Amino acid sequence: MDTADIVIAGGGMAGASMAYFLVQQGAKNIVLLEREATLAHHSSGRSAAINLEWDADPVIRDLQLLSRDFFYDPPGGFTATDAPIFHRTGVLDVAAPDDLHLLASQVASSQAAGIAVECWTPDEVCHRAPLLIEEYMGGGVYFPNCGNSAIHELLTAYIKHARNGGVQVRTGTEIIGVDCTAGRISTVHTNRGTIQTRCLVNAAGAWADGLYALAGGTPLGITPMRRTIIVPTPPDGYEPGPWPFVHDLSHHFYMKPEGHSIIASPMDEDPIEPCDARPDMLRVAEIADRLERWTRLTVGNIDQRWAGLRSFAPDRRPVMGEDPQIAGFFWLAGQGGVGILTSPSLSRIAAELLVHGETTLMDTDALSPSRLITT
Ligand SMILES: Cc1cc2nc3c(=O)[nH]c(=O)nc-3n(C[C@H](O)[C@H](O)[C@H](O)COP(=O)(O)OP(=O)(O)OC[C@H]3O[C@@H](n4cnc5c(N)ncnc54)[C@H](O)[C@@H]3O)c2cc1C
Repeated sequence: MDTADIVIAGGGMAGASMAYFLVQQGAKNIVLLEREATLAHHSSGRSAAINLEWDADPVIRDLQLLSRDFFYDPPGGFTATDAPIFHRTGVLDVAAPDDLHLLASQVASSQAAGIAVECWTPDEVCHRAPLLIEEYMGGGVYFPNCGNSAIHELLTAYIKHARNGGVQVRTGTEIIGVDCTAGRISTVHTNRGTIQTRCLVNAAGAWADGLYALAGGTPLGITPMRRTIIVPTPPDGYEPGPWPFVHDLSHHFYMKPEGHSIIASPMDEDPIEPCDARPDMLRVAEIADRLERWTRLTVGNIDQRWAGLRSFAPDRRPVMGEDPQIAGFFWLAGQGGVGILTSPSLSRIAAELLVHGETTLMDTDALSPSRLITT
């Protein structure tokens, strides 16, 4: 029978970054299992790749700030040609004239957290993001240090270094059963054989609760929520520009330039069962309508559309740490809409906790699975 010190379930950004940081912490004999034929087939390959510094939740804000240095200045040789994993494009939150309070609270808490922000008038907003229509804009808050994560480079680099550190990456391998002996993980059964291990990392994204159930746990309530993205065919005469990511708090959409077009989302959050998510036609129609009403865009054909699952715990915070009821079952799930941008900090903290039993990076009580278990 195969043996491993640590089995990681899931080959998305969570599993890949965990493999990388476990190697950094000196862990050995690690196997990463991914059910699909390719890594990042689900949420991680469908993300909008926005890299924000500000979140309403202070715990997530801490994770964002802790990830910042890694994105701005990754370890030498992290990517193959030292290609950047972050592109600074700026992020612009806008709101309608009646909703300026939505921007005011962001300014106050960003400044309190030491995050650089600029307050823009409607005129400045529409000058820097010319697709927006001035009469619908009350103003904007611009975050100059935010931008886009380079998802492919990031994932490839995590996996390359993990493999170099001895991690075995097995795609097409699904965990179908988990045994515990005397309250501790002992065996993982897959469609391709059995692995003896004392530690299973749950980086299974939308399937995180399902994996816990396989080990005999009672689901924590991690709910997958579908999010839809479209790439409309640009209208004649459309000139792509170096515009920031625009997040419209009043009219409920976001958009950003992408190549020769834009990508946009109605910021939907529809709870659904874990699955290979497909876009819902109603949501596609909704975002097309919002773009036509609140921007200068005319949405004719849609070149591409996709959907993915963002999975949230009931309090919308990630779930990270050893399970209080099943020894050796280690959670790394519930990253919601911030799993790419928080991967450097969350997985480093997780790896330190798993290998050394402690971390000095932050107090992890607010992330612990214990908070969601009522006995
Ligand atoms: C439309 C959209 C936009 C987003 N935008 C952003 C953004 O701008 N910024 C940001 O930071 N985040 C964003 N996110 C969120 C981000 O993509 C997720 O938080 C992140 O990808 C979660 O990574 P993961 O590895 O946990 O999940 P996944 O990428 O879904 O990986 C989990 C993997 O586990 C595998 N698996 C499950 N069960 C098993 C099993 N039993 N055996 C083996 N393998 C199994 C699955 O096949 C899957 O590949 C967005 C998400 C979506 C859908």
